[in-house]
Amino acid sequence: MRLSELRTGQTAVIVRVMGHGGFRKRIVEMGFIKGKSVEVLLNAPLHDPVKYKVMDYEVSLRRAEAELVEVVSEEEAKEWESLHPNQRGIPAEEHEDVMHRLARVKEHELNVVFVGNPNSGKTSLFNIASGAHERVGNYSGVTVDAKVGHFDFEGYHFNLVDLPGTYSLSAYTPEELYVRKYIIERHPDIIVNVIDASNLERNLYLTTQLIDMDVPMIIALNMYDELRESGNELDIEQLGTLLGAPIVPTVGKTGEGVHELFHQMIEMAEGKQKTARHIHVNHGVLLEEKIERIEAFIRKNPEPHHNYSARFLSIKLLENDRQVEGIVRKLDNAQEIFNERDVCQKEIEDEIQEDSESAITDAKYGFVQGALKETFKKVQRYKRLMTKRIDAVVTHQIWGYPIFLALMYFMFFCTFNIGQYPMDWIDAAVGWLGERVGEWMADGALKDLIIDGIISGVGGVIVFLPNIMILYAFISWMEDSGYMARAAFIMDKIMHRMGLHGKSFIPMIMGFGCNIPAIMATRTIEDRKSRLVTMLIIPLISCSARLPVYIIIISAFFPHNAALILFCMYLIGIVFSVFMAKVFSRFVIKGESSPFVMELPPYRMPSMKSVSRHTWEKGKQYLKKMGTTILVASIAVWALSYFPHHEELSEDMQMEASYIGQIGKFVEPVIKSCGLQWKEGVALIAGIGAKEIVASTMAVLYHGDITTSGMTTLSAFCFMIFVLLYFPCIPTCIGIKHESGKWKWACFTAFHTTLSAWIISTIVYQIGNLIMS
Ligand code: GDP
Ligand code: MG
Repeated sequence: MRLSELRTGQTAVIVRVMGHGGFRKRIVEMGFIKGKSVEVLLNAPLHDPVKYKVMDYEVSLRRAEAELVEVVSEEEAKEWESLHPNQRGIPAEEHEDVMHRLARVKEHELNVVFVGNPNSGKTSLFNIASGAHERVGNYSGVTVDAKVGHFDFEGYHFNLVDLPGTYSLSAYTPEELYVRKYIIERHPDIIVNVIDASNLERNLYLTTQLIDMDVPMIIALNMYDELRESGNELDIEQLGTLLGAPIVPTVGKTGEGVHELFHQMIEMAEGKQKTARHIHVNHGVLLEEKIERIEAFIRKNPEPHHNYSARFLSIKLLENDRQVEGIVRKLDNAQEIFNERDVCQKEIEDEIQEDSESAITDAKYGFVQGALKETFKKVQRYKRLMTKRIDAVVTHQIWGYPIFLALMYFMFFCTFNIGQYPMDWIDAAVGWLGERVGEWMADGALKDLIIDGIISGVGGVIVFLPNIMILYAFISWMEDSGYMARAAFIMDKIMHRMGLHGKSFIPMIMGFGCNIPAIMATRTIEDRKSRLVTMLIIPLISCSARLPVYIIIISAFFPHNAALILFCMYLIGIVFSVFMAKVFSRFVIKGESSPFVMELPPYRMPSMKSVSRHTWEKGKQYLKKMGTTILVASIAVWALSYFPHHEELSEDMQMEASYIGQIGKFVEPVIKSCGLQWKEGVALIAGIGAKEIVASTMAVLYHGDITTSGMTTLSAFCFMIFVLLYFPCIPTCIGIKHESGKWKWACFTAFHTTLSAWIISTIVYQIGNLIMS
């Protein structure tokens, strides 16, 4: 609990002091040292300050200050003792009471967050330590939420949090604000600043801002393998000393250095780390004088902020940081502070003809360059050179496009053709199982349920597992290698014409896998308008759940042009979504879009481990869906097609007379114009929950033989288009609501996709019919 929560007369043992460095130092100097006992002399509600006794001295703390001191109270200790009779963790020392003991256990629990630029390898390190399987990827913004994990090491229990990547801690993007808020409100014990060793200058910029915040920090010099390979030399120890933070070289791909990193954290927690100290990033004489002047006014305040160091507030005021302005506005002498800030800014502008915000950025870069000049020796730029050479080809203004298309074609070719073999095996196994069960079981409803409902339905979808895994392996490889960022880059121009940004292309390609993470990934698009438009068109991108339907139809109706037709389906999705983007940004979503940088990370050979792990994760998810959603849906579809049951009818007539037949007949008039009949109508309705259900329903309805469906080649093609474009699954709609914050957009998506599906399929069917007749 917190010290402020203790009542008069209670005693407790101090576990830790939170807040920024300056604050911690002051509190510790007053005697609030971990492991020491503290007694409350007087804590009256509504009375500030509170009086305490520590080390036989009487001291008073403001309530807000006491809130930042974590303690163990007697009650907590008693409760802990009863819950842990064998008292796990560290053994007791002689004459130690439970309170001190628990305090020591708690001291051995460290809250650690990973902060760094996108792509610096935060998630890789996080995964290695926590054993989690979070997604890593070679472009910005794969991690959009804080992920939590745990790690036990050398007697300590680490709570790990992987934060989204940011280049800076200004208040411009949601990620930046999120990370900053997280650090300030949650008071992590240690911040692991992950920096990319192959791009020190840009990465260290963020480090300077963390230094301003005066938080306990350790630096993970990640991608150390690349630094080694490049032949460049870095004096790691010296750089650490200059920055006042220990630096540990790590390789996120292999886990090298991770133990040392955690070992150093423990050293820090125990106060044994010698490199860790608070430094000031020197912004040059001119700026420093202004920073100090404003800081002096902030310090006048009896209660500035225990969460923020005064220096940090002062620097941020000079940068016109909105959020910090809001904090300062609440101070008693706010007006005075703002006046001083304005004067200082004016003086800066007069002197260097530059606004204070960019002056501070420049100064920070100057600081970084200075630090690197002393410690970093560049020998050659091998890696970058490679990257440049590859980029010259794959982002070429003409060749870039055919290369991209060829790669995509290759991807679908493999998905279809290589996937065919394992698919046949699974198919044979499912068939065999159905036959065996057919022999064993006596005729009746139960037998029908198991064979026609469960085995056909689930089996009809499970056979596509290999295809889906191949598709995911490709997507994963493209992301990890850095090619995805290039694809986005070459699409940038085209996307701009459509009122979008190249960055929108990455969520779109992710949509090939599954629309839901793709919609989450739109968070990386800084511009609200582009973000919303991208979100609305992602459901038009063909996710892997639609793949089984294509494969069923293509194998039956287009066996000779399989890969080509499959490729076409995906292309139709892309082309149509791009078209709709234009429509939306023109007519639906108002406002200007603003430009932003698109970074091109260097190429990296994706590790087999990462690609296969991700692919397997997806496979597992797919299997899980089989056991739950698809199973239930298959049973439901079977039941609806079985009842009301008439034994005397033939199978087809039975189905027509069943509930499902009635539902199908009800929608048939609407979809007739697309060349579709009632069975397809049923499959489409069933697919609202998840699009795999379209395939499993087809398997139940057609008894695994689609050629009996009565579909022509043309209507089969129209059916695929319908499945591609119509209502995204319910989870996708919920995702859109979540990301856009409004049901309005979720409903709009449901509406525009279904309408488009109907219009396009109708047009294709009608025109196709004209041509053929
Ligand atoms: P995040 O955006 O900071 O979470 O970075 P990720 O953990 O997603 O990693 C980005 C990319 O860099 C992935 O393709 C990783 O496989 C790769 N990567 C991570 N750490 C290392 C490393 O130490 N060396 C090399 N060569 N690649 C790495
Ligand atoms: Mg990440």
